[in-house]
Amino acid sequence: MLNFTVGPVQSDESICALGANQVPYFRTPEFSQVMLENERLFLKFAGAPEGSRAVFLTGSGTAGMEAAVMNTLDASDKAIVVDGGSFGHRFVKLLEVHGIDHTALTLEAGSALTKEDLAPFAGAGYTALLINLCETSTGVAYDLGMVTDFCRREGLFLIVDAVSAFLTEAIDMACADADVLITGSQKALAVPPGISVLALAPSALRRVQRIDPRCMYFDLKDALKNGERGQTPFTPAVGILLQINKRLRQIDEMGVQAELDRVAALAADFRSRIEGLPFTIFPQAPANAVTALYTGDISAKAIFTELKDNYGIWVCPNGGDMAETVFRVGHIGALTVADNEALVAALLDMQSRGLLEPGAN
Ligand SMILES: *Cc1c(COP(=O)(O)O)cnc(C)c1O
Repeated sequence: MLNFTVGPVQSDESICALGANQVPYFRTPEFSQVMLENERLFLKFAGAPEGSRAVFLTGSGTAGMEAAVMNTLDASDKAIVVDGGSFGHRFVKLLEVHGIDHTALTLEAGSALTKEDLAPFAGAGYTALLINLCETSTGVAYDLGMVTDFCRREGLFLIVDAVSAFLTEAIDMACADADVLITGSQKALAVPPGISVLALAPSALRRVQRIDPRCMYFDLKDALKNGERGQTPFTPAVGILLQINKRLRQIDEMGVQAELDRVAALAADFRSRIEGLPFTIFPQAPANAVTALYTGDISAKAIFTELKDNYGIWVCPNGGDMAETVFRVGHIGALTVADNEALVAALLDMQSRGLLEPGAN
């Protein structure tokens, strides 16, 4: 199968080959070295400020979102949550579950975030802002610089879900004054799912030391303490961490900018090829990680199923209200221009078979 979903995505062969090995025992100096290198490289690629730490949690990206909420926010906080889709909703839900006072800044699906959207929240006693830099469900990339300006002016603690934005959008935690940055293994890191990564700036580390979450597994104090010697409190997803190490080293060799450019070029290439097809790009400010396509009267779900069953291609279906009208094409993982050509050829073939007409399915 050719995989254009947004996770799990295609891994390159060297990463897959590692996955075929026996999983080693991990309470060893050798594994500690791997973990210390993972932390160092991740913080470097995230542009984390001096004194930051990274934690590798066993769990999907949502585990990192929940750990961030539980360990860095408490009852004294009042948070703004940018909610422009299913990942924004997820932050709202997490704040509800953990009893953090908050207001959702709800955006219409596919809309960019503007200064005007933020203005009513100024000077209103807020202490934190949570945002998904790329709202993967609609394919929007928000303007982080604008968010940073607002957070600086208001003195807000900034939590950035960069699960799909890490390695796809330029991010520099120090420049953005981001206090927490979250990613996961199965998006642009392009290894199997199972690990969520948090980068914590010194400001976030201070909050972690002060706040006691009502949870043992996700208490980051323990993870940070163990991490000082390259270890984890509990058995981590050892195999995935080894694959992450290989991938981080590969990125270090080619440079983060080269990877950002590669993903952006793939996205631009795909978008340039779809002009003759009966779709429109859905979001106002499209992210590099994914293109969300609006299909109008043509069933998006039927397109997904036809590509899967008869062309050996996975695109990414949408859920909820958009299940019939939007599907997404990812540009992350080991994909090439030739893969874009194969997808567009399949869509053109479907068109010639009369499958891209309203009511065809
Ligand atoms: C994928 C993703 C997540 C995490 O989802 P999991 O299924 O828990 O890995 C969180 N936020 C965004 C923006 C994502 O794209």
